[in-house]
Formats: sequence, C-alpha cells, structure tokens
Amino acid sequence: MNYEKLDIADELSERRDLFELPAGMVYLDGNSLGALPRAVAERLEHVVRGQWGHDLITSWNRHDWINLPQRVGDRIASLVGAGPGQIVCADTISTNLFKLLSAALGLQEGRRVILSQEGNFPTDMYMAEGLQALLGPEHCEFRAVPASDLSEALGKDVAVLMLTQVNFRDGSLHDMAAITREAHRHGVLVLWDLAHSAGVVPVELDRWKVDMAVGCGYKFLNGGPGAPAFLYLAQRHHEHARQPLCGWMGHRRPFDFEAAYHPAPGVQRFLAGTPGILGMAALDAALDVFDGVSIQQLRHKSSALTQCFIEAVDRSALPALELLTPRHAERRGSQVSLAHPDGFAISQALIAHNVIVDFRAPNIIRFGFSPFYNRFDDVRIAVETLADIMNRERYKDPRFLRMQKVT
Ligand SMILES: *Cc1c(COP(=O)(O)O)cnc(C)c1O
Repeated sequence: MNYEKLDIADELSERRDLFELPAGMVYLDGNSLGALPRAVAERLEHVVRGQWGHDLITSWNRHDWINLPQRVGDRIASLVGAGPGQIVCADTISTNLFKLLSAALGLQEGRRVILSQEGNFPTDMYMAEGLQALLGPEHCEFRAVPASDLSEALGKDVAVLMLTQVNFRDGSLHDMAAITREAHRHGVLVLWDLAHSAGVVPVELDRWKVDMAVGCGYKFLNGGPGAPAFLYLAQRHHEHARQPLCGWMGHRRPFDFEAAYHPAPGVQRFLAGTPGILGMAALDAALDVFDGVSIQQLRHKSSALTQCFIEAVDRSALPALELLTPRHAERRGSQVSLAHPDGFAISQALIAHNVIVDFRAPNIIRFGFSPFYNRFDDVRIAVETLADIMNRERYKDPRFLRMQKVT
C-alpha cells in the first residue's frame, strides 16, 4: 500500500493545517474529542478580551450574543440536511434528549412508550429511564429491544423511537431514511442521536422527514471539551411541541419578564437558560473548517481511511484481535473498533507510543478517523505500532493496566 501516494492525491490534505496538532502524534480520537482548530484560540481571545472585557453587557446586543444559539444552529443545519430555523445549539445531548422525549410524548396522545435499541449509548437510556421515573408508568414506559426486533416492536403504544445513527461501540451505521419511513408508517415519531454522525456522515434530516434529532459539538464538529450540543425539531412540530424545561430563554419575550410562560414560536422554545457564550463562540469558530467542503467529500475520505485501516489490520494477521465494525463502508461511520481480551492494556500501550485511541469496556479499542486532519500515513503508523505492541507483547507491561477515571 502506498500511503504517501494516497496523501498526495487527497484533496482535503491542506485542511490539516487548520488544526493545532502536536508533532509526532497520531490522533485517532476525533470521534471523542475533536482536535483544536487554530481559529478557535484566536476567536476566544477576541470574545474574552474584545467583547466581554471591553463591551461587557452591551455585547448581548452589539455582538449579537443573544442569537448565538440560533446562528450556530443554522450553521450546523447545513451539515445535517436541515433548513434554517429548526436547530438550536444548547446544553448537552443528555438534556436535549430529555426535552425532546418529553415533547414527543406530548405530541403523541394515547401513546406512552419510548422505544430504543439495546446497546444504545448509556446516557440516552438513562435519560429515558429518568423520564419514565418522573412521569410514572401510565404516562411513560421505556423499552429497549435488540436491533433485530425493532420493526416488530413498533406497536400502537409507541410514541417515539430513539436511536443513535452510528453505534459508539462497533461503529455500525443505521439506515436512517428507511427506519424513519418505517416508524412513520406505524405513527411513531423518530428521534435520532447524531453524536457520531454530525460533520462526517451525510444526513438529510428534512428530506428523510426526521422528527427530532440531537448531536454533539465536541466530536466531529471540533467545538472543544464540553462544547454545547444541538437539537433539531422539524418545522411541522414547532407549534405543538412543548418541553418541560421552560426557562426564560425559551420564552417568546424573555425581557418582558411576564409572570406567565409563553413559549417562543419556533425551535427557540427548546432553549432553557442563558447560553454559554464562550463555548458557543468556540464552536462557531470551529465550524469555519467546514467552509467550502461538502459532507460527501468528507465521507469519501473517511470511508477510504477506515477501509485502508481495516485492510492493513487484516494484512498484519494479529492474533485474537476481532474486527467489530462492518467491513462494508456503507454500513459504518468514521471509526473502527477492534476487540481483544487485553484491549485496555493495548489501548494504553498505543497511547504511550503516541497513537491516541480510546477504550470502551469491556474489551474494545476504538480508532476514530477525522477526514480533516488524519492522513493515510497515520493509518500506516497506527497499524505498525499496533503490530509492534502485539507481536512483542509490549502491552503486558503492568504500567498499562492502571485504569483512570476516563478511558
Ligand atoms: C458522546 C455521546 C453523547 C454525549 O452526551 P452529552 O450529554 O452531550 O455528554 C450522547 N450520546 C451519544 C450516542 C454519544 O456518542
């Protein structure tokens, strides 16, 4: 395999220069925390000193801080196939799920079940369980079934189907258009979690008639640690959808300070409290790297990177390493997951050798690929390092068994 040739032919190769990346590091964790776009530090300096420091409270109007959740939302919209006015940037995925699931139950009178898939991301499950505990069994029941049983489970009592497009463990990709269509045939609303999709997998929220979606700011959107998340609500639901975290920023006129809550007309009613301007400004600046690139271009390179990686791992014939991710590029996101009984120690040994990956219990090593800054040569280095660690059993060093709070 001529990796150098692939890098030369790569039409996105220059985008790497838009990021700060430590020399000598192969960073394969952009699916967990995207790398730092150079424009972010500069923007933060400007927002902190120039706006907060100099213009203080007048910045809410002068620099339009107040509309940042909608403005950043509209920029994200163009990456996930949504028209303007349907996405706000706010809070976390967890909180946004709570708001949207509550709204979905409210829109679906006579239906009380939230349906999901076993093995979905834990916070998605926990939030649904929390809502069930709050509302009680007559109003909300959470059910998770194996992926193969989802069709059958779309009964008359199901209000909303909540799924994640790209599975965080094995990187497999759901057919979002087909599942949404099928759920709608049964009168079920669909809420998609785009945590591992936004910015790297083509998504057409409007065209596929998705009802609701959430997504992450700090993964492939590179918004920084704990960046605000986003939520999508299709226009057709705006009038009737209500959410329980009805804070003042979702009020139609927050600065009238009315005694009664009246929701804002659009998706803005899904805002709760004051937006975190620093985090949102960082995400806004990070989105500049998408200017002039299509999601199709990103998807094309992402698929080539993961394909290249899978083939190189195959050629290395490493013992006891199991590929969990689908071999067919159409059926996976932008990560490759390998299982091994000593997966944790191997992941730590890779990190010690400057190949940054992460580990998901009980035995999964995840390799995430960002088409913006990963090179084909990163694939070569990662697989050579992996082979060296395994063939020489370097991972058996006891220092690689120390588990920290974040894996
Ligand atoms: C990363 C991730 C989240 C993160 O949720 P937060 O509440 O924003 O921390 C949620 N769901 C999925 C599927 C994820 O991958």
